[in-house]
Amino acid sequence: MKDIHIDMLNAGWEGDPNEYLKIRTKELEDAKSDILCPNCLVDMLIQESQEDLSCIHCGFDFYRINHNTVRYK
Ligand SMILES: [Zn+2]
Repeated sequence: MKDIHIDMLNAGWEGDPNEYLKIRTKELEDAKSDILCPNCLVDMLIQESQEDLSCIHCGFDFYRINHNTVRYK
């Protein structure tokens, strides 16, 4: 998971950082998969693309192997 501030710079956001955080958090909520993070077992993985998933809680990134299996990057 990229740092939210770097993320914000990359996106060229020039408004209120809190506003960006709110939008980004909403996006992440919408992107949540039904796979529980195999590393921390605390939160569901966020689906960043078809094969890329990551955990907001522990920050680990994973590849999707099939519909319910992931492996560490
Ligand atoms: Zn995790």
